[in-house]
Amino acid sequence: MKYVIIGGSAAAISAVEAIRSVDEHSTIDLFSDEKIPLFSRVLLPYYVAEQLSKPMLNFRSADFFDEFKVTPHIGVRIESVSPDANTVQTEDGNTYKYDKLLLATGGDAIVPKIQGVDKQGITPLKTIADADRVLNMKASKAVVIGAGSIGVESAISLLKRGMKVTLIEQLGQILPTVFDQEAASIIQKVIEDMGVEVITGERAVEFKGNSRVMAVATRDITVDCDLVLLAVGIRPAVGLARAAGVEIGELGGIKTDSRMRTSIQNIYAAGDVCETFDIARNTHYVNAIWPMAVEEGRVAGLNMAGRKAVFPGSVRMNSIGNFVGFPAMSVGVTHPDECTYAEEECYFEEIKNRTKNTYKKIILKNGCIVGGIFVGQTQKSGIITMLMRKQVDVSEVIPALMSPNLNFMDVLPVLRRHGDIFAEPEFKEIMDTGL
Ligand SMILES: Cc1cc2nc3c(=O)[nH]c(=O)nc-3n(C[C@H](O)[C@H](O)[C@H](O)COP(=O)(O)OP(=O)(O)OC[C@H]3O[C@@H](n4cnc5c(N)ncnc54)[C@H](O)[C@@H]3O)c2cc1C
Repeated sequence: MKYVIIGGSAAAISAVEAIRSVDEHSTIDLFSDEKIPLFSRVLLPYYVAEQLSKPMLNFRSADFFDEFKVTPHIGVRIESVSPDANTVQTEDGNTYKYDKLLLATGGDAIVPKIQGVDKQGITPLKTIADADRVLNMKASKAVVIGAGSIGVESAISLLKRGMKVTLIEQLGQILPTVFDQEAASIIQKVIEDMGVEVITGERAVEFKGNSRVMAVATRDITVDCDLVLLAVGIRPAVGLARAAGVEIGELGGIKTDSRMRTSIQNIYAAGDVCETFDIARNTHYVNAIWPMAVEEGRVAGLNMAGRKAVFPGSVRMNSIGNFVGFPAMSVGVTHPDECTYAEEECYFEEIKNRTKNTYKKIILKNGCIVGGIFVGQTQKSGIITMLMRKQVDVSEVIPALMSPNLNFMDVLPVLRRHGDIFAEPEFKEIMDTGL
């Protein structure tokens, strides 16, 4: 058997480990067009803040490829895939045959079509090359465009480097896809107190300057700067897949089934490049987060090696706490209207609890949790996430779920009533305690 993996990050490495757990001897060729292998993208904001050095970004040790008997092709880009010939072609014209191929090409940073976007001093933060570019820029005034998680983290990173930082978001709140307005306003106050200037409801329309950026203009204001970090989103990198005839879903990711198979035989996909079933939304969605890429890679790898494994569905999770120094995380949807595939007869409830320093919200669909927001206190949010994954009716334990003293024992009645769904040994053990 010959395995070929395109990509060298979360999904790819997880797939390698899964393949080797089943198949010790077949060849694995792994291609990554980034020059440095085995670094964690999640840690790039810490690198840009000069809090972590390059070796500290590694999520596997340097001898990983030897240990797992992988032939790495680092800094090598795959130009095309030929499903009829079962081959991939590198940019320098070499061809490699595969029996099983994994597309783990991740996502590309979106570069918005704004006038002047090609000036020097403007960059996204996606690759290690982007991070090095930001690190090497001698700038004193930065503007970050887009206040999603990466934008907020980047703004704080640049602040930690001693720059004056302005964060511009076109929508009416920061972190618009991962928190609701109320949570976002609490977090905005925290980052403003740290020293970031936050401007919402303004859209960048021009980057001013000659060859180097000198200012960002919106319709109403102009902000001087010598560095612009673009954080307007990541889009699945499906160019290779599309050209090879692999089916792309409505949301722009590779369409996969629950075993991470694509529409073409012997080609699998995992990670940010693909759409998978999202448990809360009850439809396919691109949940571009590290833990989902790892899990999808694991399922793909096992299936590639002949072991039947099923991906149970993805769950969005975002935590901004480490960066803002204040606990804040969310899971699933943040508003009921994100459940666009809700059946007609279903009903939603939003239950909120606000104290001076905390905010907690859960969103229920027909009594099952489809989203949660935890600000100021995130302990025990894992219990709510676990109940969301299982999509069981939690109506009878809502007061306990909203309590700051939520305890695992409080949800035992739900686990017991759905013993068939909580069949894993860890749940059985707890239920067998007789408490
Ligand atoms: C700055 C930043 C911070 C983040 N923070 C968090 C966080 O706090 N928590 C979280 O859960 N997630 C976070 N993420 C998202 C997380 O990093 C991704 O979900 C995860 O990296 C996805 O892994 P992946 O393997 O699918 O793809 P990627 O990590 O995108 O890797 C894909 C790899 O494939 C390579 N590739 C693509 N095409 C080719 C080709 N044709 N030939 C060869 N190689 C190719 C790419 O260059 C890349 O190296 C963050 C992302 C960024 C950019």
